[in-house]
Amino acid sequence: MVERCIRGRAASEGLAMGPAVIRRALEGASRAKGSIAEEHAALAAAVARARDAVAELIASLQGDAAELIGFQLALLEDDALTEAAFAQIERGTAAEDAWRAAMAQEIAGYESADDEYFRARASDLADIRDRVVRHLFGLADDGQLPSGAIIVARDLAPSAFLGVDWSKGGGIALGEGSPTSHVAMLARGRGVPMVVGLGRGWERLAGELLVDGTRAEVVVDPDPERIAAARREIDEFRRRKAEAIARQHEPALTRDGTPVAVLVNISGPNDMAIAPASAGDGVGLARTEFLTANLLHDEEAQYRAYAELMRWADGRPVTIRTLDAGGDKPIPGYTIDGESNPFLGLRGIRLSLRHPEIFRVQLRALSRAAALGPLKVMLPMVTNAGELDAARGHLRAVLDDLAKDSLAFAEPAFGIMIEVPAAALAAQDFAADFFSIGTNDLTQYATAASRDGAEVADYADVLHPGVLAMIAHVVRAARARGVDVSICGDAAGDVSAIPALLRAGVRALSVSPGLLPQVKAAIRELDLARPVGSA
Ligand code: PEP
Ligand code: MG
Repeated sequence: MVERCIRGRAASEGLAMGPAVIRRALEGASRAKGSIAEEHAALAAAVARARDAVAELIASLQGDAAELIGFQLALLEDDALTEAAFAQIERGTAAEDAWRAAMAQEIAGYESADDEYFRARASDLADIRDRVVRHLFGLADDGQLPSGAIIVARDLAPSAFLGVDWSKGGGIALGEGSPTSHVAMLARGRGVPMVVGLGRGWERLAGELLVDGTRAEVVVDPDPERIAAARREIDEFRRRKAEAIARQHEPALTRDGTPVAVLVNISGPNDMAIAPASAGDGVGLARTEFLTANLLHDEEAQYRAYAELMRWADGRPVTIRTLDAGGDKPIPGYTIDGESNPFLGLRGIRLSLRHPEIFRVQLRALSRAAALGPLKVMLPMVTNAGELDAARGHLRAVLDDLAKDSLAFAEPAFGIMIEVPAAALAAQDFAADFFSIGTNDLTQYATAASRDGAEVADYADVLHPGVLAMIAHVVRAARARGVDVSICGDAAGDVSAIPALLRAGVRALSVSPGLLPQVKAAIRELDLARPVGSA
């Protein structure tokens, strides 16, 4: 077999070798139809396999993530879910069509529910629909991919990524996608090699694959020499990583002795298992979209999730961001459907201020968690100083209410993300307790290049002088106001961007937990006393 090499874009460094597991979109696809009895049996078997896979997935998750998926298990165990599909099969419909039609009706019912909680559950039903369809077509469930496999797909949702056990190795090769997408961020955080933007060629990827997330290529049926070289490289990569991990508890000082705080970003409950809290200087960003997507009205469940994070951080500062739904993080039933450009639409704090009843539930849960240690609340996508004032108004009202209840609470520090260019250039006007620069969005808005678009990914460059100038301006504004400033966007974990960020004055970086050791190692290599280009 002659090897073939397909080039894409690097999304997560490192090498992974393994068999291709194709994850095709199955909308509208059909199988050869059997007799009524065969179709009946096929659907029953697919539902049973999906149920077993979900049960297995739950066993591997912790906390609220397991609870969330528990809802899917309960549905799959309920015969009422399959009744309508089986009735259609009896009338001569193929199993996949009967199942899709029955689920479309169920999903529409949930989507039109008065109660927001049920509307949000529509996405669970869509997930169940797709899982069962995959089993009908004999494809692996996301939670059952063989260990060390390379997932090949057009694109991959963050939820699909989180359903895979990456502890056994494996990699990702995508036809579309972008290095700045959330799934790429998750892949970097867990050290899963990933190449995106392979173009239409992704559909032809099969057999044994080598994903090279550093050189941005995927090799099909690599020849023996390349396999041997890749094994050596994997060994070297592991050796350097092990060295960095051995020193991860030491502070990060540049060669000239400048201390840099290195914190972690937490994007889901499983992130807490990736690195020990004791290795970092706290949590610089906890993304609550992943923790609370289905729990918007549930103060207790949110409080439990935040309290778990506080316990994990063990006295170190924890920055929790209020819901940043919208853009590439839709929450069914909450975010607006059909916006012409969701990244420029109602997202983050804009949406929270439109839904004070939901925003206040989160502020209550956060203020209660603040009684457990140094908690900082961070607002996403702030554009105007008025939004900060309005949000503070809600916080004050929540604190007044809590004072009347008999629950323990404390006033958290209240800061903002700087990720909208207008806010970056006017940072001096924001009376926030701290700033954290979201370079993912700041870069996409400043360069007019979508963070998840493969075609324009070269434009979305954090090292563009215009973006760096904004970062330097925010650092100066923070110093003038006497407040802390950090970077929590992906650039903070990008060793090729770190020198420019530190030279712009940044002294605190918040990174995916899996990157913490390498980031500290990269900081130690740097000499800020030497002129640009020589360090
Ligand atoms: C950012 O925009 O840099 C950021 C950290 O927020 P998110 O990636 O969650 O939009
Ligand atoms: Mg952002």
